[in-house]
Amino acid sequence: MTLWSITVLCALLALGLFGLWVFVLILGPNRMFRGTVVERMYFWVTESLPNKIERWARSGVGDAIAARAEQMWMVLFGRRNPLFQIIAVLLYWTGVAVFFVQAAPYIPNRYVSSWQWLPIGTTLVANIGCYIAACATDPGVVHDRNVGSACRLFDYDKLLYFERDCRTCKLRKPARSKHCSTCQHCVQMMDHHCIWLNNCVGLGNARWFLGFLATFSTVCFYGAYLVGTVVLEQRQLRGLTSGAVIWDEWGQPIQLSFKSSILYILDDCPLLAVLFVLLLILAPAIGVFTAYQLRITMLGYTSNEESKWVNIADAIKDGVVFAIRESSSSPHEAIRVIEKENQEEIDGHLCRPITHLQQVPNMYDRGAWNNLKFVLLSARSAPKTHLQ
Ligand SMILES: [Zn+2]
Ligand SMILES: [Zn+2]
Repeated sequence: MTLWSITVLCALLALGLFGLWVFVLILGPNRMFRGTVVERMYFWVTESLPNKIERWARSGVGDAIAARAEQMWMVLFGRRNPLFQIIAVLLYWTGVAVFFVQAAPYIPNRYVSSWQWLPIGTTLVANIGCYIAACATDPGVVHDRNVGSACRLFDYDKLLYFERDCRTCKLRKPARSKHCSTCQHCVQMMDHHCIWLNNCVGLGNARWFLGFLATFSTVCFYGAYLVGTVVLEQRQLRGLTSGAVIWDEWGQPIQLSFKSSILYILDDCPLLAVLFVLLLILAPAIGVFTAYQLRITMLGYTSNEESKWVNIADAIKDGVVFAIRESSSSPHEAIRVIEKENQEEIDGHLCRPITHLQQVPNMYDRGAWNNLKFVLLSARSAPKTHLQ
């Protein structure tokens, strides 16, 4: 094994671990991975490991230095700062530069024609445009000038959202909003805080975030395909097709199989190899995340609301969720959580226990296409969603 092979192998291993880390962090908390190894890995990465490191640091270096490290951690992760945004932009442009220097000279080739430069350019421009817009657009920050209109946008369902003030902002909390502890404000229809955008994702920029994910997964899949064709083209140009013979450093002949000819080229172009593997790891990870984000958008909830729905599912299991009618003649039922100690007051004629999450309507769901249209086109000027 040459030094280059070992370096490339280490780089690929590091990239693989990085890809797994991103995958676990992004998808670990989601409902579809409940009770699986992905969820266990998520808790290990976000809770057990930091706690272990903290205990180890306190015993090894003393409380004063550990407290300083904690402060540093808060500066890096607890408050809004552009560090991860800068890392993301640098990695992105390094990838683009490697593509243009090492792959672009071999496009067109015998597998792709020159017209492919049109979709290549369009996808890159769309992706970069969506990223800038997602970073720079106001996600829907609630402040004293817009709190009235923000509160009128959605009704409180009295299940996930109740009329109350934010303890930090001291303003009324609109339904579907959440306080971002990183940015220190409430955001309308908050999805999550994204360290890679250094911004919250909410009502104002959800369309750009979705656009960014869709174009970024296209960039990764398309990029992996194009780099793949360049590797195959190089294999042809260098005469390394199956059965060809090369000589190793001791002058011994090696007959190449398809796999060894590909590995030979990747070994010879390590930067292209790293880009290729990174794209192959990122493409399915970002693709799954895009599909997940599209799915919850079309189902009419946000990532933040997904965890609230998980809590409702747990409450149903605990037998504390009921459908309540105002009177025996009223067909309308309101879904409410009634804790065990208050259940003695329940009138059996007007209440029925909820046994499954599917029996609980999501009042913010307007139907798949309307939900998508709402996020993509009309979030700002949307009419109020009324209680049924
Ligand atoms: Zn707040
Ligand atoms: Zn935020």
